[in-house]
Amino acid sequence: MSVVPAIEPRARPSDRSGVVFDLQRAALRDGPGIRTTVFLKGCPLRCRWCHNPESQRFEPQTGKAGKHYGRTMRVGEIMDVVLRDRAYYESSGGGLTISGGEPTAQYEFCRALLQAARTNGIHTCLDTSGHLEPERFRALAPWVDCFLFDFKAADDAAHRALTGVSNKWILENLAWLGETGAALRLRCPVVPGVNADDAYFAALKAWVPRLKGLQAVDLLPYHAIGNAKYADVGMPLPELCTHVPDDVEKQRWKDALADLPVEVTVG
Ligand code: SF4
Repeated sequence: MSVVPAIEPRARPSDRSGVVFDLQRAALRDGPGIRTTVFLKGCPLRCRWCHNPESQRFEPQTGKAGKHYGRTMRVGEIMDVVLRDRAYYESSGGGLTISGGEPTAQYEFCRALLQAARTNGIHTCLDTSGHLEPERFRALAPWVDCFLFDFKAADDAAHRALTGVSNKWILENLAWLGETGAALRLRCPVVPGVNADDAYFAALKAWVPRLKGLQAVDLLPYHAIGNAKYADVGMPLPELCTHVPDDVEKQRWKDALADLPVEVTVG
């Protein structure tokens, strides 16, 4: 008698799992309205100012002080939490934001989450560095209502020095989003002595006319709040000759962008 090999049942989208390092309900700064933000663990970049070093490795880890960073969760499990706040999303124009780490680095999990949200009528934001092969990036886009897209450095050599990766894919993806008119906010980490200079703001301004769906520019001033976490996860603190900017410096950055046709915020 011949033996018929068993067919592996294909995992249902809600059973797909990935590693999450944080999940925040009632988030107010990760896109429009009241949102739930899911932070996926793992990032191919190494930004010298990163204040979430515990998000960089892909696997769950335990810090020296015993704190756990990251756990495996299923899409269905996350959606159970996300859907609890549907009434808040509907009254505020909010929804689900997927952040990281770099969320697209867990590509299938990220896509499954976006699809699950949209299938349930939930607005989606993707908070991304944009560092993903353009073909794959474009395949994700139909599931995203609004992109929160980083702009760290326009010059490729500078981008490599500051983040460890080229910005070739990033700028290609940004240009494509701009042409399609996709809704996006530019998220701009501004680090004194590193990228907070005339060349950076000039490059930023030069990109704005190319981004048809641009809604706002969010300046994210450098802060040192995450520095203690480096020691906890056994990583050396990157050398960075900078300082935490004061209100005067932040206002100067905002003034440099005063003639943009979109809202400029300083976080
Ligand atoms: S992209 Fe974000 S998570 Fe990744 S290293 Fe840079 S700041 Fe950290």
